[in-house]
Amino acid sequence: MTLPTFRFAPSPNGALHLGHACSALLNARLASQTGGRMLLRIEDIDTTRCTPEFEAAIYRDLEWLGIRWEMPVRRQSEHFADYREALDRLIAEGLVYPAFMSRGEIRAFIAQSGKKWPHDPDGAPLYPPADKALSERERKRRMAEGAPFAWRLDVAAALDRIGNSLYWEEFTDETLTATHRIEAEPQSWGDVIVARKEVPTSYHLAVVVDDAIQGVSHVVRGRDLYLATSVQRLLQELLGLPAPRYLHHRL
Ligand code: GLU
Repeated sequence: MTLPTFRFAPSPNGALHLGHACSALLNARLASQTGGRMLLRIEDIDTTRCTPEFEAAIYRDLEWLGIRWEMPVRRQSEHFADYREALDRLIAEGLVYPAFMSRGEIRAFIAQSGKKWPHDPDGAPLYPPADKALSERERKRRMAEGAPFAWRLDVAAALDRIGNSLYWEEFTDETLTATHRIEAEPQSWGDVIVARKEVPTSYHLAVVVDDAIQGVSHVVRGRDLYLATSVQRLLQELLGLPAPRYLHHRL
């Protein structure tokens, strides 16, 4: 039998705040109540903003809270090869494309369109469709020239690929006795970034790859990540990864 597996996954780009403490304590309590495992993952793919000092402070704060976790801790910066492999599959299947537009170019494109432009749940404009339409030859030419780009998920192609409606199971409360199905709406985020030119991953890709590698069965995290679950469920389906169940707690 596989044990219920929980994780706390902070980014060491600042000090932990009360919301993190609440999340860490809830994960630890649920792991202990269910006889499950409690893992710690350091989400440090942003090597410019994450520092060893913030990471050390996370360990100190969690110890102060009386939280214990299994060793070894998974540090994302040590696993870029795993994310690269997942990214390469998405590239090979034509589900991502190189996106070259800067923020200024996106703004200009939208202004020129004269249309009321859709925005994602964070308020950012959806990525314009221009780069998706570039020929393979033009893509190769720009990449060979060293133009900056990000790999973006072709969300329409991705939804087409999986064919079915997409759901996740959300626990109704902290007793973890029942779940309800939530319909995922990844299209509300548009063509999200799944990797960058220099970093073969993004937050979403690293999370789904790691949750699968670490055998995470219960993702317990704050409400602020509720809508991100839509994108993560889509990536899980595309990569053939198991879907954990989720509990998004109040902030
Ligand atoms: N690293 C993310 C954060 O600190 C949390 C990721 C997750 O729990 O899925 O907000």
